[in-house]
Amino acid sequence: MKQTQVAIIGGGLAGLSAAKEFEKHNIDYLLIEKEETVGGKQKTSHINGYQCDHGFQILLTAYPEVIKQLNIKKLIPHYFNKGAKLWNQNSFKTISDPLKKPSHLPYLLCNPLLSWNDYWKLFKLKLSLKNQTSADIFASTNTTTKDLFTRLGFSENCQTYFLKPFFRGVYLDNELITSSRLCLFYWKCFLEGNALIPQNGISAIPKQLESHLNPNNILKNTTITNIDKTIITTDTDIRIKADFICCATDYQTASTLYNFPNKHYQCVTNYYYQTDTPPTHNRYLYLDGSKGPINNFHNVTAINKHASPKGNYLFSITSIPNKTTTKHYEKNILNQLKTYFGDQINKWNLVTHFHIPQALPHQSISHGVLNTHYNTQNIYFCGDWTIQGSIQGALYSGRKTATQIIDRIQPS
Ligand SMILES: Cc1cc2nc3c(=O)[nH]c(=O)nc-3n(C[C@H](O)[C@H](O)[C@H](O)COP(=O)(O)OP(=O)(O)OC[C@H]3O[C@@H](n4cnc5c(N)ncnc54)[C@H](O)[C@@H]3O)c2cc1C
Repeated sequence: MKQTQVAIIGGGLAGLSAAKEFEKHNIDYLLIEKEETVGGKQKTSHINGYQCDHGFQILLTAYPEVIKQLNIKKLIPHYFNKGAKLWNQNSFKTISDPLKKPSHLPYLLCNPLLSWNDYWKLFKLKLSLKNQTSADIFASTNTTTKDLFTRLGFSENCQTYFLKPFFRGVYLDNELITSSRLCLFYWKCFLEGNALIPQNGISAIPKQLESHLNPNNILKNTTITNIDKTIITTDTDIRIKADFICCATDYQTASTLYNFPNKHYQCVTNYYYQTDTPPTHNRYLYLDGSKGPINNFHNVTAINKHASPKGNYLFSITSIPNKTTTKHYEKNILNQLKTYFGDQINKWNLVTHFHIPQALPHQSISHGVLNTHYNTQNIYFCGDWTIQGSIQGALYSGRKTATQIIDRIQPS
């Protein structure tokens, strides 16, 4: 039987971030991951020269934990343009921050989708968020995101064409019943930083965390099948005895191992298409609020030219299906693309698609603090589901949980 001070179960961002903390404090740990690579939900596949992340994922440079734990420069960031392109039933209109891009001002003022009043409200919110800390935001009244938009007085157009598809894409929640606090937190991060994709895809983030760890402390291709107090059984013949367990799995696994009740999850489907004649070359996110199958898409190659073979372009399309998804779904996606770009879509080729049934936790209430409700004597839980379904949430939960265990092992 192997012995360790801390057994970390799961090598997603939370488990890796916890391991990094143990490494820093010279704590003896063993990270056990069921897949052959670490990263969990942050996976990138390479298919015939195309680099496809499993689901559209971006890193926000203003996430407080990203500033603390990652080296953005070493990820070789490729940035989105600030702003978005909004579909208004017959063309895409640009929205951007006129204070950042004054040259866009005349165009924005003629843009029929957002009123002057909407721009004024966006500006006022920006000022107000600038003066609020994350703690202020998570102490604010908790309503739904949908109600927040109405309370802030945004016009129907601004909500339909911009705010709703934008935040549906962030939370993968079609109904926008996600907590208004999370909405304000993300809004602040989008305003104060940039959105990027690492040059080698989203899996570069867990790889960077892994590079800080001793490879001898990582056991891959090993699934935990049972935990009895602090004795861990795996699907290989390895058994592990640990003083502390840091369970950093997804919620479904934690709930199976520990008999927790089920939780509702948001799902998403992500299609990747290849074309050699892209209808658009810019680095904006495209949003469609018409609630067709497509919620948002972007030209991946325009943002990161390393994502596709030379002369080819990769488009990433995100759909947030309701439970009534039909088998004709891909046909509907192509039809919607045709309404934007016409018959040239007939020449697009599907590279791959990912359907992720349990992408993000349902988050109607958010307190911004780690949920330690499930922790018992020597068993601690971390992972995005313990605080917030994001890179920020996973990194924060891993680091904080490790700190709690370290305080038990090395009391000051
Ligand atoms: C489609 C999609 C889009 C997203 N977009 C964004 C975005 O744009 N921006 C953002 O900030 N966040 C985004 N996120 C959220 C972010 O990716 C996650 O919050 C984060 O990666 C979760 O990390 P985690 O460590 O908590 O969990 P996970 O990544 O789920 O890690 C759990 C790990 O445990 C392992 N494991 C499970 N069971 C066992 C077992 N029995 N034995 C051993 N190992 C086990 C798994 O293999 C996995 O490696 C997105 C997520 C998805 C799915």
